[in-house]
Amino acid sequence: MHIASVGVSKFCFLFSLAFCGLLLLLIPALQPPAHQVDPPQPRPQARPAQVGALHHPRLPAVSVCTGETDLARRLNKSSIGQKGTINTEHTRNDILTPKRATDSKRSPGRGIIPGAKSGALSGFRSRDLLELKDIFIAVKTTRKYHKSRMKLLVQTWISQAKEQTYIFTDGEDKELWIRTGENIINTNCSATHTRQALCCKMSVEYDKFIESQKKWFCHVDDDNYVILPSLLRMLSSYHHSQDVYLGRPSLDHPIEAAERIKSDGSVSVKFWFATGGAGFCISRGLALKMSPWASLGNFISTAEKIRLPDDCTIGYIIEALLEVTLTHTPLFHSHLENLQKLPTDTLLDQVTLSYGGFENRRNVVSIVGSFSLVEDPTRFKTVHCLLYPDTDWCPKLKRRHKN
Ligand code: UDP
Ligand code: MN
Repeated sequence: MHIASVGVSKFCFLFSLAFCGLLLLLIPALQPPAHQVDPPQPRPQARPAQVGALHHPRLPAVSVCTGETDLARRLNKSSIGQKGTINTEHTRNDILTPKRATDSKRSPGRGIIPGAKSGALSGFRSRDLLELKDIFIAVKTTRKYHKSRMKLLVQTWISQAKEQTYIFTDGEDKELWIRTGENIINTNCSATHTRQALCCKMSVEYDKFIESQKKWFCHVDDDNYVILPSLLRMLSSYHHSQDVYLGRPSLDHPIEAAERIKSDGSVSVKFWFATGGAGFCISRGLALKMSPWASLGNFISTAEKIRLPDDCTIGYIIEALLEVTLTHTPLFHSHLENLQKLPTDTLLDQVTLSYGGFENRRNVVSIVGSFSLVEDPTRFKTVHCLLYPDTDWCPKLKRRHKN
């Protein structure tokens, strides 16, 4: 009996050992698949309803970007009647009559980024906890505009984003340097409005961004006002490791250029590009992929090969070479548009604004606030005081008396 019970215990012991061994062997197989440290974020929908098309319904359907013309110049001169490609939206003839801001809760610009996933703005918390310091904002300027254009920008929106705004110019200017601090970069590019000079500046902008380790690259011209809270809100809808190219085309169709990089130029390639005059943004993930054609002077040779201006070359590298699509957004604005048409109650929700046409037809946003048209012809100071009413030069007293 005693011996038998010892035998049974031994058997049980050996059986449990074998069972445990089997369990140990099975553990790896029973485990769930390896956990991804950084789960891929949902990508924005690539090709939304074409915003540009809504604004330019009368444009011809086909265009050829021959490369010999300075397209940027043509685009920006609003050349109605020229064959082909240009955004022909003219500024209104009449002088601006500021409208009163309505208190409408309906704000067409707010929360709508065609191309973003639906509800992009409301869902941003979970995607990329973005701060202003994560954005590299490049402002392109030239020596002759330091006083007339840059002074206003430095006084307004740049004052709220000093650390992350980098000014790319072509001449030394102690006064501007004192006003802006460290981030003024003399590119030593030629101070002309040629394709080569503009591409030279973009090439330096790109390299400085890569060096900066920031998450987003945004480019604007020196006649743009950047509404920083809207910029932050828009970029927070995406993740910087995704392939994101955000901007507004100035045409309602892609441009076409001879393909001289992937082939010998005998075939053409069609692609969209975001117009530089309205500003555009590129995620770091995508910018890194652009490196073979954009870094360390390669941008200039790429632009030379396709013979297109800087903003077209960016579009070419991203859409044609990397096959990543431009996310069209209506939140960027250049003076190619009729800025007065922008609904007043959505102005502060836009990402960029601009001004133009002082020579003959004034083209500025329609907004009422602290300054008259004479005091603030670009309307940038008025926008700024609505966004940052505590700024020392914004007239506060009137506002407080009303309350
Ligand atoms: N620009 C430049 N070099 C020049 C002329 C202009 O870098 O010789 C810059 C200018 O500072 C601005 C951009 O190019 O950021 C577009 O210039 P502008 O607004 O005068 O022209 P448009 O918008 O009509 O093309
Ligand atoms: Mn301009």
